[in-house]
Amino acid sequence: MSSRKGGSARSATGTGRRGSPARRAMSVDLSDVPYEALVAETIRRCGDDPDREGLLKTPQRVKEAMQFLTQGYGMTPADAIGDALFEECHRNMVLVKDIEMYSLCEHHLLPFFGKAHVAYIPDGKILGLSKTARLVEMYSRRFQVQERLTEQIAQSIWENIRPQGVAVVIEAYHLCMMMRGVQKQNSKTITSAMRGAFLEDQRTREEFLRLTTSPHSPLS
Ligand code: ZN
Repeated sequence: MSSRKGGSARSATGTGRRGSPARRAMSVDLSDVPYEALVAETIRRCGDDPDREGLLKTPQRVKEAMQFLTQGYGMTPADAIGDALFEECHRNMVLVKDIEMYSLCEHHLLPFFGKAHVAYIPDGKILGLSKTARLVEMYSRRFQVQERLTEQIAQSIWENIRPQGVAVVIEAYHLCMMMRGVQKQNSKTITSAMRGAFLEDQRTREEFLRLTTSPHSPLS
């Protein structure tokens, strides 16, 4: 580790440069420090007093909120799907549209949220309808990038249901774009992931995109 002195001043955000205080801090073992103490220290470094009345219970609340928002790490697709896989000869597209989605971007730990649209063409098995939403929830309750979230949902259906094809579109707003940086309040990020028939058959793909691409806001 670098022992260079006189780097940038200590700050809540650090500089991210190699050898900077922020970089060195990441190698300090904090595993025995209670989560609440880490949150209190974060509040302090942002310039407020974690002991003032309004903030006293905040570290505990943040801990509980983060546990909830990252509970997807403890789950597998099998947990989300359970025994809700049914034999069925239906061979047409099944589309679950407008699934509410809330996640945290892994770059800033700020929310991104919007709607997911999931379609598949069964090949002997169908999935309980609510389970599609549970898969979306499982993968979004982690630190994510929207691109990977979209791929993971598609891949889990591809592997677990073995359909003829699967397609996922997510349209989302990112608070790290809206609240900071470029502050593009109205820009929506759209990602898609496709497997099987949706890749191979242009008409199937177009039907899916026509059914899902909507002019409305994910907020409405
Ligand atoms: Zn971000």
